[in-house]
Amino acid sequence: MLPRSLSSPNCAPRKDGTCVRFLIIHYTACDLAETLRILTDGASPRPVSAHYVIAEDGEIFQLVPEEMAAWHAGTSYWGAYEGLNTWSIGIELVNPGHGASYRPFTEAQTKALLELGEDIQERHSIPAYHVLGHADIAPTRKSDPGELLDWARLASRGLGCHVPFEETPLIMDAEGCQELLRDIGYHVHVTGERDEETTAALRAFAYRCAPLCIHDPWDGRVMATLLSYHARVHEGL
Ligand SMILES: [Zn+2]
Repeated sequence: MLPRSLSSPNCAPRKDGTCVRFLIIHYTACDLAETLRILTDGASPRPVSAHYVIAEDGEIFQLVPEEMAAWHAGTSYWGAYEGLNTWSIGIELVNPGHGASYRPFTEAQTKALLELGEDIQERHSIPAYHVLGHADIAPTRKSDPGELLDWARLASRGLGCHVPFEETPLIMDAEGCQELLRDIGYHVHVTGERDEETTAALRAFAYRCAPLCIHDPWDGRVMATLLSYHARVHEGL
């Protein structure tokens, strides 16, 4: 199905020397009508947008052409990349978001995401390990799209990386954990402390691969899963 085309003024040419290297997935935290209003509101004091919005019935809306940078990532980092708007395509999934109404992404939405995501990934040669959630690139600010997205199913189609949850805990100190997170791409500093930044990055990882532990991301099973993920990503390099 072709996306329905709308136009958002909230975009800019990609910065010189940059191109699409990432696909970033979000949830909207509001309904479809409100989403489309916000993402096309050029008069907003904090203008935002995304390239695509996928409604709960699976309908796809395109708001910004892919050659332009949409304003969906904000202050964000991954590995050596900073300010990911200019390096990415952003897809917003309509969902009420974390809170009382957070609910599984619908089958129609997930299917539409798979189809659209694979198409984007192929056209821009985006590696699987560069298909990430907003929480991954801005862990202290964002928690979307969160643990109810079927990350394993996406990864089974090459969209993102995923490893099975490791049931056997691994003991790892904060420094070791920070080095692993950094090597994967998360923006954390090696402080040797269980600081807020590291806890947030671990939680972002747990949304994707260890959802049982999102309330205690220092659980040894998260460490074990992180080590396995690190190995998986490096096999693919
Ligand atoms: Zn987001």
